[in-house]
Amino acid sequence: MRGVVLHAPGDVRVEEVADSEITAPTDAVIRLSAACVCGSDLWPFRGVDPVGRPTPMGHEYVGIVEEVGSEVRNVKPGQFVVGSFVASDGTCEICRSGYPSSCVHRVFMNEVGTQAERARIPHADGTLVATPDIPEAELIPSLLAASDVLGTGWFGAVAAQAGPGRTVAVVGDGAVGLLAVLAAKQLGAERIIAMSRHEPRQKLAREFGATDVVTERGDDGVARVKDLTGGLGAHSIVEAVGTQESMQQAIRSARPGGHVGFVGVNHDVALSGEELFFAQVSLFGGPAPVRRFLPELIELIWDRKIDPGKVFDLALPLEQAAEAYQAMDERRAIKALLRV
Ligand SMILES: [Zn+2]
Repeated sequence: MRGVVLHAPGDVRVEEVADSEITAPTDAVIRLSAACVCGSDLWPFRGVDPVGRPTPMGHEYVGIVEEVGSEVRNVKPGQFVVGSFVASDGTCEICRSGYPSSCVHRVFMNEVGTQAERARIPHADGTLVATPDIPEAELIPSLLAASDVLGTGWFGAVAAQAGPGRTVAVVGDGAVGLLAVLAAKQLGAERIIAMSRHEPRQKLAREFGATDVVTERGDDGVARVKDLTGGLGAHSIVEAVGTQESMQQAIRSARPGGHVGFVGVNHDVALSGEELFFAQVSLFGGPAPVRRFLPELIELIWDRKIDPGKVFDLALPLEQAAEAYQAMDERRAIKALLRV
């Protein structure tokens, strides 16, 4: 089968890779209906994360179940399924408490690589959610978004306690940040401040429910959020970048008693204990427990109440994955879908 392999920073190739097959009785094999490139795939692509050997890429996926292992009960061949970027058993104490992305048996799907024609899904019963029927083609981008970026933005908004009566600020205008805006709107936030300096992204943020746009960054961005909130800061901040600057901007934009949901994969962030002590904010984040939210997100998409697939502003055949990475790296595309 064909699959995307990163050979070295900047060197993405589509090549023949080993066929996906059942290796444990709890596995399923799916045929991808579409794949995509994630902002977090850019870390190894840029060489920020080391690339020690040719690495299969991709962790977001939707598709049709082709085969299941002998112990799989919840999904069957022929069903269309959505799963999280972390495979989880659904039965351990951590899964049952609502944190499947920290399942004691978790498998990060980038270890499998889902930018390919097929993928093996470990812990199929705990990981996959079947849709009510085979979706129409127009729903596939939104269902694919649910696999990671929507679920991650949603968790950011939940962790930040976005809700009625609250002002939410979102740091980061990538797909996750934009979908955190959508999530905050769905969760009933009163005011949503999107922090973005890119016009097409500002426009999408407004379509998703942003009431204000702040173009300044860093401490200037913090000052603008304070201006908009009577000098106090926002109740809820979603951090969707993962850098030192964005984490500081998020914490400093929160009012005392406020909540920061941080879902950008952190890279070399060091926080001052003294600043945190006096900030008096709650910090909660990490790899999003997407599987917890999937049934609700699939229903919202199925009923056409949300359209998160709008974050895909580029669609290319799988064979042109290298161009998809380039376009996202240069910020020419918000998020690239790969037609399989
Ligand atoms: Zn578990």
